[in-house]
Amino acid sequence: MVPTGFLKNLHPIVFDAAVVDACRGGATFESLNPATEELICSCANAQAEDVDKAVAAARACFEGPNWGFKSTGAQRAACLRAMGKAIEDDKDAFARLESEDCGKPIKESVDDMDQAVEALRFYADLAENLGAEEPEEIAVPDDSFRTRVVREPIGVIGAITPWNYPLLMAVQKVAPALAAGCTVVLKPSELAPLTCARMATLAEAAGLPAGALNVLTGEGSPAGASLSAHRGVDKVSFTGSVPTGQKVMAAAAGGPAGVHLELGGKGAMIVFDDIEDIDATVDWICMGIFFNSGQVCSATSRLLLHSKIHDKVVAKILERAASVTVGGPLRADDKGAEGACMGPLVSGPQRDKVLGFISRAVDAGAKVLCGGGPPPDADAASTDRKPGKGYYVSPTVLTGVKETDEAWTAEIFGPVLCVRQFEEEDEALAAANNSEFGLAASVMSADKDRCERVARALRVGIVWQNCSQPAFIQAPWGGYKKSGFGRELGRWGLEAFLGVKQITSCAGSFSYEWYGK
Ligand code: NAD
Repeated sequence: MVPTGFLKNLHPIVFDAAVVDACRGGATFESLNPATEELICSCANAQAEDVDKAVAAARACFEGPNWGFKSTGAQRAACLRAMGKAIEDDKDAFARLESEDCGKPIKESVDDMDQAVEALRFYADLAENLGAEEPEEIAVPDDSFRTRVVREPIGVIGAITPWNYPLLMAVQKVAPALAAGCTVVLKPSELAPLTCARMATLAEAAGLPAGALNVLTGEGSPAGASLSAHRGVDKVSFTGSVPTGQKVMAAAAGGPAGVHLELGGKGAMIVFDDIEDIDATVDWICMGIFFNSGQVCSATSRLLLHSKIHDKVVAKILERAASVTVGGPLRADDKGAEGACMGPLVSGPQRDKVLGFISRAVDAGAKVLCGGGPPPDADAASTDRKPGKGYYVSPTVLTGVKETDEAWTAEIFGPVLCVRQFEEEDEALAAANNSEFGLAASVMSADKDRCERVARALRVGIVWQNCSQPAFIQAPWGGYKKSGFGRELGRWGLEAFLGVKQITSCAGSFSYEWYGK
C-alpha cells in the first residue's frame, strides 16, 4: 500500500522549517492513479511565492558554510551515497508509489529505482575527488604568466522534469548537480510528483544541509514558469516537450540563466534484410515502442523495414503485440510466465492525444494492423483492470503511413508503431534523418561496416546498433535538432553543473609597461 501518512502531509518540501510552514495550506492539485482514475492524494500547488522561498533557501545553502564552495567533494559524495542507500532500503515502497502514480508496470518501476540508486552512487564516485584535484595547467605562449583552470559549482539549479520516468529523470539532474556542489530546486511533473516528494523526505537524514535539495510539487504554470524565469536561478535544467522547452528557454533568457534542454524525439529503427536473428530483432522492435507504453523520448517509433523481410517481420511483431498483457501496473509483480505487461498511459488527456493521432492517421489512409484503441473490457478481470476505467491503449501497429503524415513526423508518445519499407541504404538513411527531432535511432544489420556507416550518418545524439533503448548511467544522453542540447549522464552530466574558472598569475615584477614603467 501507498504510505498514507507521507501522502496526507504532502506539501512543497524545502528543508527550512520556516519555509515549510509558509507553503502549507495553499492551492492544491490532485494526483490520480491512471489505472483506476481514483484520487491518490492532493498535492500542494506551489505558487510564485513558494518558488521565491525555495530559491532563497537554495541560495542561502549554496553560499552558506556547509555546501557549495565550502564543502568538499568527499562530503557531498557521502550525502549522495546515503541518499542512494535510503532509496534502496525503501525500494519497494518507492517502486509501488511510482507505478500507482504514473501507471508503469511494477517491474519497470523497480528497474527505474535501481537506476536512480546507481546514478546517485555513480555521481558520488565522481564527486569524491572534486575540488581536491590539482588545477589544470594551461600552456600559454608567454613565460611571464602561469594559467590554471579550476572547475566549481555554478550555483542554484532549477530542475524541471516530466512524468514518464518521474524519479529517474529527477535523479539524473539532482545527483550530478549536488555532486558538483550546486543546490537544487526541483519541480517534478504534476502528473506524477510523488516519488520525487518522497525522495525529498529522505534528504535531511542523508546529511544534506537545509536548502540543498528543495522539491516543489506544482503545475507547469505557475510553479515551472516561475522557476524558469527566476532571477535567483543560475541554470535551468529541463526535460520535457519541445513547446514547454521553448517557453523555459525564453523565460530563462530574462536572467539570462543557463539552459539545458532534453526534449522530445521521433526515433527511427532501420532493419536491413541481413539481420542475424529475426526473433531478437522483433524483440528489440517491440522494446523500442511498447516499453513504458511508448511514453519514451527515445522510442524507435518509426520502423523502416527492408522490403525483402517486411512481411515476415511484421507478422512476428503482430504475434508479439498480441501476447502483451495490457493490465494493471501492479499485476506484473509476479511476472513469471505472464509475459510482457503494459500499463495505462499517464492521464486521460495523454490517452486522448494518442487516440487522436491514430484516428487522424486512419483518416489519412493508414491501416491499423493491431490495437488502435483501449483493450476490450472482456479481459479486464483477468488482467487486473477495472472495466471502463484506466487510460489504456493497446499496442498499435500502423502501415500505409506516408513520410509526410503527422503519425510519421510527430511525437505520439504512446504505444504506436508506424512501419514503412525501403529498398536501398541511402533511401533508409534519408528517411530516418528526415525528422525535426534528433534524439535516438537504431540500425539492425549483421554487416558491421554498414552498422558503423549508418551510425555515423544518423543525425541523432544516441545510436543503437542491433538493439534499441539500453541506457547506461555512464554514457552521455541528449539530442540534436529539436530534441535539445547539452548532455545528461556520464561525466558530461556532471560537467553541465560545473563552471570553468581560469586563474592567471603574473611572475614577479613583470608588467606590460603599456602606460610606462
Ligand atoms: P511537458 O513539457 O508537458 O512538461 C515537462 C515539465 O515542464 C513538467 O514538470 C511541467 O509541469 C513543466 N511545465 C509545463 N509548463 C511549463 C512552463 N510554462 N514553464 C516551465 N515548466 C513548465 O512534458 P511531459 O508531457 O511531462 O513529458 C513528455 C515530454 O518529455 C516528451 O516530449 C518527451 O519526449 C520528453 N522527454 C524527453 C527526455 C529526454 O531525455 N530528451 C526524457 C523524458 C521525456
